Amino acid sequence: THFGFEKVSESEKAEKVYKVFKNVAKNYDIMNDAMSLGIHRLWKDALIRMMNPLPGTKLLDVAGGTGDIAFRFMDYVRMQQERQSRQAVKSNQSPSWQQISDFYQQQNKSDSDLGSKAVICDINKEMLKVGRQKAEQLNYSEGLSWVVGNAEELPFDDDKFDVYTIAFGIRNVTHIDHVLQEAYRVLKPGGRFMCLEFSKVQNPVISRLYNLYSFQVIPVLGEVIAADWKSYQYLVESIQRFPDQEEFKAMIEDAGFYRVEYSNMTSGIVAVHSGFKL
Ligand code: SAM
Repeated sequence: THFGFEKVSESEKAEKVYKVFKNVAKNYDIMNDAMSLGIHRLWKDALIRMMNPLPGTKLLDVAGGTGDIAFRFMDYVRMQQERQSRQAVKSNQSPSWQQISDFYQQQNKSDSDLGSKAVICDINKEMLKVGRQKAEQLNYSEGLSWVVGNAEELPFDDDKFDVYTIAFGIRNVTHIDHVLQEAYRVLKPGGRFMCLEFSKVQNPVISRLYNLYSFQVIPVLGEVIAADWKSYQYLVESIQRFPDQEEFKAMIEDAGFYRVEYSNMTSGIVAVHSGFKL
């Protein structure tokens, strides 16, 4: 039961990827937790900490799916904002009532008033639909916009965003180089590209266990939880085929980015690659 992705043409690959995420959209969040034992949350948190965004940052999250990165970004920026204003009040020996009241009013301001914005872009409207519903339930709607679009041909003008993120998305696209060129184009000069993706496991023992888990457990979980063996087999195969840390770094440099570096997490099961447009 090989999914046979290598043998299909480019347009067929795009079509199959679309079907996979259409099929998994409803179960996507549950499956992420089940398959990574919740660890994907820590990886995503770590990405945002590395980004360390200031209030006012404009984020484009490509292949943003159900919004995990954008929600974390908004939380982080809000926390930073609160910390800054609290410190400003505290550092003042005897803050006036006006300053204290300004501080609390600031806290009640919505994210869009603070100027931070995140655009979530994904080719799959089913994934975005789940994300939008989540945003409503969790009260995130301010400052977020949801755009259907292809990472290889982004529907945005040049030089628009401070940060571009793509988490567990780039291995699904047909042309990685097009995606990187588009990321470069839409970033402002000084803007940062950040990619969180499965990578090559560094430790041979962990690598063995990881392969065993990937090939033996993941498709079974897919079948049991979502009645969908094939989509989860695709997932495993796409991870295997993706370039390793150094190869991917070289591709990012080829797209024109500077100061490209990566850091491994969980022994290289995933890596964050980052680079700047100057
Ligand atoms: N970033 C989210 C996360 O970390 O939870 C979702 C990751 S999910 C594994 C991959 C996403 O990539 C899917 O939502 C899929 O629709 C999207 N995708 C695949 N090909 C794409 C493309 N060419 N352009 C934009 N999004 C794409």
